[in-house]
Amino acid sequence: MGLDTFCLICGGPNYFKLGHGNDLKMSNKELLEYKWLGLVMGIDKTEKWIELGDEPDDGSGNYHNFIVQSKMWHEYDTKPKNSFIKYPEDYGVVAHKDCLKLLENKLNYKLRFADVCRLVDDYNNLIKRINYGEIKKYQKQWFDYDKAYEKDEWLMKSPLKNKENQERVLKIWKLMLK
Ligand SMILES: [Zn+2]
Repeated sequence: MGLDTFCLICGGPNYFKLGHGNDLKMSNKELLEYKWLGLVMGIDKTEKWIELGDEPDDGSGNYHNFIVQSKMWHEYDTKPKNSFIKYPEDYGVVAHKDCLKLLENKLNYKLRFADVCRLVDDYNNLIKRINYGEIKKYQKQWFDYDKAYEKDEWLMKSPLKNKENQERVLKIWKLMLK
């Protein structure tokens, strides 16, 4: 099984690695342009920000030091401490660094775990009541990189740099923060 977790802010994929669920052929310039997708931050239950680096998760929302999926937070909380399954210390939500920066710069809002932890889906880290817009088409079990790149390339560009994507994300979060 396994499935992707997405950026809670923009709904895009949390990794960017050729060969990891995509067969895109890209120039070096493009590779640099898409790098932001893999630069993600975990925010844990104590509101600590944890660098998750640019290594993708294990395909089920687990990083070596972090669990993303809320379904597993509950298990983590209820499992006996000597459980045979080795759980990381921290769990929480995950978002792109560029998206976090966008909310701070434009909406003066710093994302907090406490603000969103009850709103996220059990499996994919998305906020249930948000309509993420055009990107929904590509939020499959695994993000449909090839199709998104072919049809809506702007969705995969950093909202700090691409105006159209920026407007999409700000529209969502203005509503969320009302
Ligand atoms: Zn994002």
